[in-house]
Amino acid sequence: MSILIVDDSQDSLRLLEHILKDAGYKDIILAQSATEAFRVLNMNDPACLDVPVDLILMDIIMPEIDGIEACRKIKKRDNLRDIPFIMITVISNIDALQAAFDAGAIDYITKPYKKIELLARIRSMLKLNHEIKRHKAFEQKLQELTLQLEASNKLLEHLSYRDSLTGIANRRYFDEFIEQEWKRAVREVYPISLIFVDIDHFKAFNDAYGHPAGDECLRQVARALTNSIKRPADIIARYGGEEFIAVLPGTDAAGAISVAELMKANVVGLGIEHASSQVVNHVSVSIGVATAIPDRYNTPTSLITNADRALYKAKSDGRNKVAMAT
Ligand code: GH3
Ligand code: MG
Ligand code: MG
Repeated sequence: MSILIVDDSQDSLRLLEHILKDAGYKDIILAQSATEAFRVLNMNDPACLDVPVDLILMDIIMPEIDGIEACRKIKKRDNLRDIPFIMITVISNIDALQAAFDAGAIDYITKPYKKIELLARIRSMLKLNHEIKRHKAFEQKLQELTLQLEASNKLLEHLSYRDSLTGIANRRYFDEFIEQEWKRAVREVYPISLIFVDIDHFKAFNDAYGHPAGDECLRQVARALTNSIKRPADIIARYGGEEFIAVLPGTDAAGAISVAELMKANVVGLGIEHASSQVVNHVSVSIGVATAIPDRYNTPTSLITNADRALYKAKSDGRNKVAMAT
């Protein structure tokens, strides 16, 4: 607990110091003018945010800068604003006291001091200062926790839109994305293409190579599909099991078919052995493509159904194929 005493009278300073030291306060700083006090408080350094003292006792009547003016200046500094300020005055001059309170002082003592009164006031002011510090620390902690919570919420939200196995967007993300994109396309009148992708004979793959190999295959296929879409507005999501879906806003049927062909080639290009596939020796996919120019009378559901039908056609046509919805 450090106490700064500011008084132009050397005798007053010594007397106060004696009383306070006698009462057990060890850290007492004496200043004989406001300017000296400003130095103690590092006020000549605007970057300094230290709070070097816990309490200020200041004489009102001092030459050059008086106690009221000094108090006003100190209270202007953010880091010093909350230090309790006790004014010392010779007589209880009501006007001077009012000015001191207006300047930010919260208590006063009159000379000559009654020792018991002086110490009681100092004790309660130091207690107040302690409470203010605790409150500030608590507020800061609360602010930190709020920031942490916001970050966790963001992460949670991010995770809730991710498929944990493949790391790409999940079904939930797709559902919300297509709704939004549909509305935008209605407003701005442009086509939306959907690409439905399903791994061929994947059950047989799992049966032959085991589930962990199946999982790894899903991860690699997800990566190959992601690498096949190029536009920033395009997304690819895991629709379920071994099915993936891509949304290509602003892409027409021809564009979507070329993306689908690239996907098909990229998946076979992974070269994942699939000996029990009746199509090729490697893991392959069947793909259904559908395109629509959304309008207010339609919903994304019909487009999804069309893409699904096209996928079924690609399967029945022999798999490892791209089919366009008719
Ligand atoms: P088709 O060529 O007609 O698509 O045949 P398929 O065997 O691929 O289709 P089916 O729907 O019969 O089987 C899908 C398989 O995908 C069955 C299921 O065990 C597997 N599967 C779904 N999700 C996962 C997963 O997260 N990990 C693994 N390893 N396998 C999965
Ligand atoms: Mg399937
Ligand atoms: Mg399949």
